[in-house]
Amino acid sequence: MIDKKYLILVPDGMADYPIKSIGNKTPLMAANTPNMDLLSKKGLLGLAKTVPDGMEPGSDIANFTIMGYDPKYFAGRGGLEAASIGVTLNNNDVAFRCNFITIKDEVLEDYSADKITDKEGKILIEKLNRSIGARYKVEFYQGKSYRNLMVVRDCPELIQVECTPPHNIIGRKIDDYLIKSSQSVRLNKIMLESGSILEKSNVNIERIRNKKRPANMIWLWGQGKKPDISTYKELYKIDGSVITAVDLIKGLGIYAGLEIIDVPGATGYIDSNLLNKAKYALKSLKNKDFVFVHVEATDEMGHEGDLEGKIKAIERFDKEILGEILDGLGEFKEFSILLLPDHPTPVEYRVHTSDPVPFIIYDSKSTVSDGIKEFNEESAKKGSFGLVMANKLIKLLLNR
Ligand SMILES: [Zn+2]
Repeated sequence: MIDKKYLILVPDGMADYPIKSIGNKTPLMAANTPNMDLLSKKGLLGLAKTVPDGMEPGSDIANFTIMGYDPKYFAGRGGLEAASIGVTLNNNDVAFRCNFITIKDEVLEDYSADKITDKEGKILIEKLNRSIGARYKVEFYQGKSYRNLMVVRDCPELIQVECTPPHNIIGRKIDDYLIKSSQSVRLNKIMLESGSILEKSNVNIERIRNKKRPANMIWLWGQGKKPDISTYKELYKIDGSVITAVDLIKGLGIYAGLEIIDVPGATGYIDSNLLNKAKYALKSLKNKDFVFVHVEATDEMGHEGDLEGKIKAIERFDKEILGEILDGLGEFKEFSILLLPDHPTPVEYRVHTSDPVPFIIYDSKSTVSDGIKEFNEESAKKGSFGLVMANKLIKLLLNR
């Protein structure tokens, strides 16, 4: 262990666009954020490009680059989710996200099968393994609710097939969105055959009786491999932890060799116990060098288009995460903080965008600062770092 402590704090999707109804301010400008502003005044600012051109602005790639990894090593969502549910992948294996969905008249009605329970999901996954799994030599693994995984061993070429996320095609005919490519025959057969197997299951008969949408098909998408990356220990000789309620980010942390800390009451939603996350982060620094704290509530409010909710989530992040952490960090001799959202989730668009995001780096021992009084999308443009690729930030944080 080294004397100095390092922190990365990520309010997911916090960045936004100016909004007319609040005087052309962004939610971050409108929110009362004394702690971020304090850090801004004493630290150095800039804009970070977290998503490379031509890539979808997912939280997966954005947090991958924030953790310091070159985007060229990003190997898809499936590999990260596999790690988070404890499935080990070899270099040539491909993991697909396998949603339970509801189909009605060949149209995708629900990408989550009415948020099917884990108990029901377990029965259906076992059924799939016995039938389709054995027939097509694939493995199904249960995740949470409708979010499961299908692993194909020794078939690296499958990484290239083109899949469609089911939440993007609600209300559309599934035939138009089956997987396209020469490799896809087996995958499409698996999806289509799952329908007749799942339909007959008692779980679904019972669901229909209780007026719940059945899980009457699986949908494969978001495939990924094990990313070929080194751990923080190997790269920087530091030990650290990750605090998040989101599986993708847990998976990333596992590949980075970081400890995943489960915090009681952390839900990934607006009701999340943020104060507890801050307390666990501080506790983890007693015997580790580094902690990555991720908060999802800001992103959720963006997706819901809830302006007031987003402002409130930002204020809670400022007080209950940053404020609490700054209070507790006093006991350590020296520390450095990198704070930034992973991407914007503008409330007026309700989806992620790829614009560069504002960031602050604050070093408790540094005597230089930009003296910028407020932290937001506009003020960060005046920061001395200028525009930085997000995977370079880790070296600025660690001062290497
Ligand atoms: Zn995100």
